[in-house]
Amino acid sequence: MSFDSLGLSEPLLRAVNELGYTSPTPIQLQAIPAVLNGGDLLAGAQTGTGKTAGFTLPILQRLSQMSPAPAGAKRHVRALILTPTRELAAQVEESVRAYGKYLKLKSTVMFGGVGINPQIDALKRGIDIVVATPGRLLDHMQQKTIDLSHIEILVLDEADRMLDMGFIHDIKRVLAKLPPKRQNLLFSATFSDEIKTLADNLLDSPALIEVARRNTTAETVAQKIHPVDRDKKREMLTHLIKRHNWFQVLVFTRTKHGANRLAEQLGKDGISALAIHGNKSQSARTRALAEFKDQTLQVLVATDIAARGIDIDQLPHVVNYDLPNVPEDYVHRIGRTGRAGATGEAVSLVCVDEHQLLKDIERLIKRPIPQEVIEGFEPDPNAKAEPIQRRSQGGGGGGQRSPRQGQGAPRRDGAGGNGGAKPAGAKPAGGNNNGSRSSQKPAAAKPNGKTDAPRAAHSNGQRNGLSPNPGSLLGGKPRSEGGNGRRDTPRSGQRGR
Ligand code: AMP
Repeated sequence: MSFDSLGLSEPLLRAVNELGYTSPTPIQLQAIPAVLNGGDLLAGAQTGTGKTAGFTLPILQRLSQMSPAPAGAKRHVRALILTPTRELAAQVEESVRAYGKYLKLKSTVMFGGVGINPQIDALKRGIDIVVATPGRLLDHMQQKTIDLSHIEILVLDEADRMLDMGFIHDIKRVLAKLPPKRQNLLFSATFSDEIKTLADNLLDSPALIEVARRNTTAETVAQKIHPVDRDKKREMLTHLIKRHNWFQVLVFTRTKHGANRLAEQLGKDGISALAIHGNKSQSARTRALAEFKDQTLQVLVATDIAARGIDIDQLPHVVNYDLPNVPEDYVHRIGRTGRAGATGEAVSLVCVDEHQLLKDIERLIKRPIPQEVIEGFEPDPNAKAEPIQRRSQGGGGGGQRSPRQGQGAPRRDGAGGNGGAKPAGAKPAGGNNNGSRSSQKPAAAKPNGKTDAPRAAHSNGQRNGLSPNPGSLLGGKPRSEGGNGRRDTPRSGQRGR
């Protein structure tokens, strides 16, 4: 199946062709005709599936066909795309520009952490498509620098993340200002009750589409667990990176504080590393990402939410320094490797405190993950598990922090504040980093032959056409909203941008 058969106009096909896309992804195959039809859409799809082109291409086509501003007349904002993070907003808007290269439509991106005036100037000059994070959009609404009364198409991208990040009230305030007659598109990786309520209120007889992400826990990603004591994790990570000469390593920590501290410690070990999370300034985040992409930075340490929207092809190494509190995030994290069919490696450093989290992950992905003990890092068999949530800030070097810690002053979409990101006095690591050989432990079960290759199930107009267990595309339990320690930005109180 080629793009030609989807009903897209020649300028869009030319742009897509220039980008080297030969055939539409499953989500594109279904979403493009559905959006071109003009109806609402509820889509279960994550980053990596090609969802951005799935909504951007038909939106561009519709806007270029529907009520264009007469020559010389001021443009109105006619499409609004809301995303949870700045990185994703920037990436989506880049796609809008790339796909719309041969059209006369104008787009802009707006998020916090950067000056508002250039955004106001852009709006004054006339914009057709705005890609925004909710906080900064509300700033514009309050300052009356944006007019939303001409919106024809609304997209909520990664709606589950927006709800996780506490944006529901902001979203409702935005919805209240939109014209009632419009096309609504909602993209979400998971379908919690909260998402279903939002979809019920927002969407009118939507087309329903669900696809699994590419390379979820697919065979292109080699997964491995390294059991380790909690206070040896940092030392083990340094050992692995140096021993294998790993480059472009994306390391996940559970907290912003843990990310900061780990990046600092890796730096002391002679490994170039930067942390990326919601408390970093936008310029620091952009710089870290750029250096990581062009491979001048060896390691990027990220929290789950900060990592959303990072699109780096063929990322070779993902390390779970801490296992995520929510099993679905494991799948999201390792989906960063082996993109576009490339092979990747995902290793998890697991201490005794995380055994239950590991069990939950293995249940979700329906297979045990092979374990390998590294010589010199054998975990203490008598170590007692400590509750992750209750650990105090000054504790051991494992980065196992309370999910609630380090969240700092209430903010939105990741700006301002230092969130308690002061490095704690890290314990000196033990001195046993001499293992040059790994001892293979039982390479547990093999993948069960079940692939996570893209699967397209499309049904029209039936809400329950989505997964029977709508909590997860992978059949996991519904993501609990809030209190899961993954939020990069706290929900209440003063709005950052
Ligand atoms: P997304 O899920 O929208 O973040 O897209 C993930 C990546 O897939 C991006 O780097 C896109 O440029 C790329 N992509 C999107 N659609 C296609 C396609 N039809 N063929 C090849 N690559 C694509």
